[in-house]
Amino acid sequence: MNASLRASALRRAYLRMTLALSPALGVLWLAWDGQVLAAVLLFCTVLTTMMIGTLVPRCALFGPMIKRLPRADNQVLLTIDDGPHPQHTPAILDLLDRHHIKALFFLVGERAAQHPQLVREIVARGHEIGNHTQTHPATTFWMLRPVRLWREIAGCQETLTTLCPEQPPRFFRPPAGHHNIFTAQIAGALGLRMMLWSARGFDGVDQRVPVITQRIASRLQAGAIVLIHECTPVAVEVAQEVTALLAASGLKCDTPPASLAFGDDEMVVERRAAP
Ligand SMILES: [Zn+2]
Repeated sequence: MNASLRASALRRAYLRMTLALSPALGVLWLAWDGQVLAAVLLFCTVLTTMMIGTLVPRCALFGPMIKRLPRADNQVLLTIDDGPHPQHTPAILDLLDRHHIKALFFLVGERAAQHPQLVREIVARGHEIGNHTQTHPATTFWMLRPVRLWREIAGCQETLTTLCPEQPPRFFRPPAGHHNIFTAQIAGALGLRMMLWSARGFDGVDQRVPVITQRIASRLQAGAIVLIHECTPVAVEVAQEVTALLAASGLKCDTPPASLAFGDDEMVVERRAAP
């Protein structure tokens, strides 16, 4: 990736960090002035805000994100995270073909590098690939500093773009949906927009397929972005039920439209190559 682009993105990230830490000066000043209660209250307020913005997946406090498609398009988007998987990906691709569904696969860079033929097969069958970090550090992603964030997102972008130069990823999804104050800005510097979801069945932690399907069904409507995973023990069963559900819904199940509006700030996403 372009070195000057990296340097500029990291510079902006550290400026953000400085601004985010500035309330600490207020806490110190209040404590020094003897206003201990006010200092504690300010500290707790800032800390709570930071934790909510970081750990609540659909909270757009630290930057824009796509959480649904425009309802008027009468479309639903199926997103499939964590692949590719040597056994599950081919089975899921067959299910999608059977129901005439096109999906967006959020791939992990190092897994993609291990199974390049699967990545090319996903694209060849008319699906889209998205960036889901290079190593998928799910438990620590929320607290990564800018340099490591850049390595994760840019690394995956480079891996996937090298494998499929004709279709560079245009969307990024953070592992577990956790994103700190730097994530959207670094993804944006790489030409990516963050995409979360509006309907999920918690199949990453629950293996009861009927319950997972029911959770998704209860949130399925025009504009929904559905999330399932392809590396769980029940991945194929879940995909079987969810693809049948989508096919029966009467909604169009296609890859994201060429331009996609954010729900909150009306920004527009356009397909373009990573710098
Ligand atoms: Zn994931």
